[in-house]
Amino acid sequence: MEKKVITVTSPLLPSLDDFIPYLQDIWNRKWLTNNGHYHQELEKALAEYLEVPYVSLFTNGTLPLMCALQALRITGEVITTPYSFVATTHSLWWNGIKPVFVDIDPVTCNIDPGKIEAAITPRTTAIMPVHVYGRPCDTKRIQEIADKYGLKVIYDAAHAFGVKVNGKSILTAGDMSTLSFHATKVYNTIEGGALVCHDERMKKRIDYLKNFGFAGETEIIAPGINGKIDEIRSAYGLLNLKQVDAAIIARHQVAIKYREALRGIEGISYMEDTSGVRHNYSYFPIFVNTEKYGMTRDELYFKMKEHNVLGRRYFYPLISDFSTYRGAESARLENLPIAHKV
Ligand SMILES: *Cc1c(COP(=O)(O)O)cnc(C)c1O
Repeated sequence: MEKKVITVTSPLLPSLDDFIPYLQDIWNRKWLTNNGHYHQELEKALAEYLEVPYVSLFTNGTLPLMCALQALRITGEVITTPYSFVATTHSLWWNGIKPVFVDIDPVTCNIDPGKIEAAITPRTTAIMPVHVYGRPCDTKRIQEIADKYGLKVIYDAAHAFGVKVNGKSILTAGDMSTLSFHATKVYNTIEGGALVCHDERMKKRIDYLKNFGFAGETEIIAPGINGKIDEIRSAYGLLNLKQVDAAIIARHQVAIKYREALRGIEGISYMEDTSGVRHNYSYFPIFVNTEKYGMTRDELYFKMKEHNVLGRRYFYPLISDFSTYRGAESARLENLPIAHKV
């Protein structure tokens, strides 16, 4: 008998029967991309769902990071975390910006605000934190530092779809936040993403940038890029949005079961819910204490694999250890002890 493989996630798919009429409509309209009917509908629906005024859709979650840096004219050095998916730092590299890595907080796994100030130089222009595993960063302290030094803040909120703090969307923090709607995320459009900003003029600028810089039929305001998402994935996104709340509730139930099962196992710890936070349960990280558990993280990972449970080592290796970045002064092990340990 073939063994069942348990993957780290399974994509949320709309029912095919529900999707067919949308496809039929797209075929009738013959408008496949470039701010079409479903693109506009999805932007509106997402802004409403996420409780933010302005959402710009993108064809993946990496382009909004790159465009946020362009839209805000960020240059020089940007302070960021090594404990994330590589796209966070790659977006800086593609803009010719030097990433400066700051260590993380051992409890939240997010950038440690207490260590940001020491990393600021005259060339620093922005901070790019990540709400790792959807856990909110200390946005208040980060904003205080940003205000004090005149820095912009761009949050990589790829994990934080639907996350709220005291009833308020986490996406309202900072100057901008980016989302990823990749198939592995809690809400997906297969590939997709979005950039959230707080004023209409900025939304306009972002929309120019994601469409080659076109501000009219013959006017180009900047060397923009092609970041547009098509009608088919926009329609798919509208359908998935209707079931994302149910998916988050189901994930919560799974998290409760995992916590019950893992409670009391010496050497294994996990994250508890934070009071006042609406979590999206998109990840269930566990932490392995080798001495207490009697096995290393990797030994456990490969043991689980033998039993067809395919975990992932998030985030290993650290971004600062990849060849492109490891030469940087801030990438040294001594600068990032917590991130290395976690
Ligand atoms: C998924 C992810 C991205 C990139 O998203 P894509 O849609 O795959 O381009 C960026 N940052 C983080 C933290 C992610 O997890």
